[in-house]
This record gives sequence, structure tokens and C-alpha cells, in this order.
Amino acid sequence: MDMINARELEGSDRLRWIGATGLKGRCPRCAKGKMFASWLKLADRCRRCDLDYGYATPDDGPAFFALCFITFPLIFFVMWVELSFEPPFWVHILTSGPLMVASCVLSLRPLKGWLVASQYVNMAQEAGTEALFDELDRGRAGELESRRTRHEQAD
Ligand SMILES: [Zn+2]
Repeated sequence: MDMINARELEGSDRLRWIGATGLKGRCPRCAKGKMFASWLKLADRCRRCDLDYGYATPDDGPAFFALCFITFPLIFFVMWVELSFEPPFWVHILTSGPLMVASCVLSLRPLKGWLVASQYVNMAQEAGTEALFDELDRGRAGELESRRTRHEQAD
């Protein structure tokens, strides 16, 4: 079987792979099997390559991203419509309401697929970068601490 090792992809190839598999609900390892057993429920494992989806813990990530990137921008759009055109209230009930619900519901599956695929592709990298992130966090905490003491001394 000629299989790409998605974890060895870098930069934009990696992002393209995550998009091509995750957003379409395809297995992030073989890109052929289906990721979902139903609308939002993940399959137990890939039927093509036997990838175990037990690693996947998107939790409320999809809902978070749907809120940030779909619902909030839509709220601003709806407010803009309201302020610019001052339509009667029933216009919002017929258009804005269904639009927001539908866009949120429809975006959950591709967002979940995207998160699960990124999790798979980035898993190997996470283990290697743990120390780096620890160091970064420590460095930042130290910097904040010294800034605070400097500030207190100035008072
Ligand atoms: Zn697969």
C-alpha cells in the first residue's frame, strides 16, 4: 500500500493534508476511510487502514470554533443589518435566526474533522515540543514577574 505519512508533512503541505482529510471527514492517515459513523459521532476505527480514533479528543473544540469563527461574525453582520436598514423584527426571525442556527450546526462536522485530523497529524510533534513550551512559559512568567517587581519598586 502506498501511504503518505501525514506526520512527516511540513508547513503548508501539513495544513493542506489536514484540510483535505479533516474538513471532508476522511481518515487523517489514509485519506480514504470515513472518519464519522454518523453526523457528529466519530467512527471507532478507520475501515480502510484500521486507524483507532480513540486518540481523538476534540471535546467542545468544534463548538468553540463554530462560535468564534461563525456565530460571532454573524452576530456582527446581523447587527450591521439592523443598524443600517432597521428592518422590522420579523425579518430577523425569518433570516438571522435560521441563518445562525444552520451555519453553526453545519460547521460543526467539518470543524470536528479538522480538529481530529490536526490532532492526528500533530501528535508526534507535540511530544517533542513539550519541553520547548515549558521553557517558553517559564520564560514568559519570569519576564512578567520581573516587570511586576520593577513596577512595585517604582511606586
Ligand atoms: Zn484510514
